[in-house]
Amino acid sequence: MKKLKDGNSRFVAGKSNHRDLVAQRKALVGGQKPFAIILTCSDSRVAPEHVFDAGLGELFVIRTAGNIADAIALGSMEYAAEHLGSTLLLVMGHESCGAVKAACMSESAPGNIGAVVKEMQEAVKLGGKAPEKVVPENVKCVLRAILGKSSILAHLESEGKLKIAGATYSLSTGEVSYL
Ligand SMILES: [Zn+2]
Repeated sequence: MKKLKDGNSRFVAGKSNHRDLVAQRKALVGGQKPFAIILTCSDSRVAPEHVFDAGLGELFVIRTAGNIADAIALGSMEYAAEHLGSTLLLVMGHESCGAVKAACMSESAPGNIGAVVKEMQEAVKLGGKAPEKVVPENVKCVLRAILGKSSILAHLESEGKLKIAGATYSLSTGEVSYL
């Protein structure tokens, strides 16, 4: 967690580390050991490697609209926690999330977007349809869903091998606030 916080402080201050990505790329050919799993939104403004000033091989990232944990996302997280040794799982929502706004406006949407807004309705209810409140509520719902739907992740957490946390990201300041 400290590593993520320090990286975000550097990003906020515009003092991200210079990285030799060619050297990193070569050093990682044999394997990866990402210290953290990040589940966040696909929004193009919320790029975890930038936000946490991390290099190649450091973050195992899963991105879906509205940072929703479906079965494939859960399987991805389980793989990282069990087989790659990641010890932190962070679910990060963000300010002005289009998925949250859409879910606040309607319980349904055309095509497969419908699955996204449907999944967020519990958070919409808890946040009183106010997007700024629904964003953190959605993160909490996703955290509960992770523990409820993944016995592997729940078990790792109860054994103290995995820390699971939630956060929100500010588009304007670049700051990550932990819930
Ligand atoms: Zn979003």
